[in-house]
Amino acid sequence: MRLAIAVLAAAALAGCSDGPLSEQEKEVKAEVGRHFAELNAQAAARAQEAKLTKSDIDLPATALVLNRYDWDLNGAIYPDVECSNAACKAKLGTLASIGVELRCPACGQELMTELTRVGKSLPMFDLRSGTGLPVVVIVRYVRKSYAYDLTSAVLVSSKTESVISTKAFTDPENRGKGGYYANGLYRVTGTAIGTTGFVYRGRELHEIDPESVKKMTQDPPETVSVSSMKLGRWGGIEKPLMPWLGKPPTEAPAKETPKTP
Ligand SMILES: [Zn+2]
Repeated sequence: MRLAIAVLAAAALAGCSDGPLSEQEKEVKAEVGRHFAELNAQAAARAQEAKLTKSDIDLPATALVLNRYDWDLNGAIYPDVECSNAACKAKLGTLASIGVELRCPACGQELMTELTRVGKSLPMFDLRSGTGLPVVVIVRYVRKSYAYDLTSAVLVSSKTESVISTKAFTDPENRGKGGYYANGLYRVTGTAIGTTGFVYRGRELHEIDPESVKKMTQDPPETVSVSSMKLGRWGGIEKPLMPWLGKPPTEAPAKETPKTP
């Protein structure tokens, strides 16, 4: 058995200097993770720059808008989800999960098991090259864009104010003394589902052009040869991800019985 594996590995090695398929697959998984970790690290560095500024006029322009990415090797995108609980059936739209459980926001029903069973999941790591080389993957991810909110304004109830006063932080009199400028906060301004693809060659990821990715991910998918792909720094095909806004009213609400004192 061990000999057989060694022979296979040698055969694969002879055909390609990048190493055997199993090794390359492992590397691609790590590289895709690193790709998103690097993008998130850039965002974190910019957020840190914003945090370190003493005054809002010193905020670097690059820190005002940033992107954070959700990607997981075991994550998936679920298009057109309808809650599997017969009593609920909420139409939830597209959902994404980075490997953690997914629940219906309306009734709490666990959704992933059923969605995976009926094949309504699009993996975030989608190997397309089978046993061939080079390794080709389709990668799906979630991009959240954040805008810096200088005021970091939040409503404080009079009750809270009476217990912990925010006056020291909000009174313009305190401006410049370190109390007024609260360093802002990042608010989510948009969420998108992205699809891209990579070819692994020379121990590096090369992004596939959007036109080829579109063909590879359409229904039914088209096979695109590596030689006809245009590899470069393209960026993914992105679609806005709409948040679930609750169930639409299906019938007139029941008339409230007047309360008797
Ligand atoms: Zn539900």
